[in-house]
Amino acid sequence: MRILVVEDEKPLADALTEILKQNRYHVDAVYHGNHGLAYARSGIYDLILLDIMLPGIDGLSILKTLRKEHITTPIIILTAKSEVSDIITGLDAGSDDYLAKPFSTGELLARIRALSRRSAAYNEEILTCGDLSFNKSAMELCCGSDSLKLGLKESQLIELLLNNAGRVMPKNLLIEKIWGPDSDAEYNNIEVYISFLRQKLTFLGTGTQIRTIRGVGYQLEENCEK
Ligand code: CA
Repeated sequence: MRILVVEDEKPLADALTEILKQNRYHVDAVYHGNHGLAYARSGIYDLILLDIMLPGIDGLSILKTLRKEHITTPIIILTAKSEVSDIITGLDAGSDDYLAKPFSTGELLARIRALSRRSAAYNEEILTCGDLSFNKSAMELCCGSDSLKLGLKESQLIELLLNNAGRVMPKNLLIEKIWGPDSDAEYNNIEVYISFLRQKLTFLGTGTQIRTIRGVGYQLEENCEK
């Protein structure tokens, strides 16, 4: 799960990033409203923590713009206690939740879990497609009585493919979701990991396969024609 932090108080943004990373989230932080909007528009985030008072475009305008553009990423507004009227405005503008600063780490993590539970896919511990299953916390890929441990990138990749089984996943979307928008990971990085995964699928003898859609990306499919 990838989280965007938009917060101009750098020490707070950095502390949030650190806490979220320790809790196994992937995090990008930006400190300016304009960057916040640009990153949020990429559509690669599963959740956004959004401060209201920002240099450039303010948080509420970012929120309104995103909702107007039908970007439905869950958003938690971060706000100072003195800005309670802004909170009401924020909820009206389509934010999903808010946290008044200062907030505790426990409270933040609980809110994130609550929001991610709403999108059921993140809540499922075991993802399946055909006879293939993947245990997220054990990072284990299984078919019948056989199972294999996956590395971190392979796990992220198979999780994305399983959450979108049957759908074509563009290469650049996979790269941005796994390596982040600023990474210099290239197409061949993803090809290497796809080939690792294919070897493992073959080893497990599953009917589920990763199809290459030439010039676009990849699609996970069960029981490809032999
Ligand atoms: Ca601020």
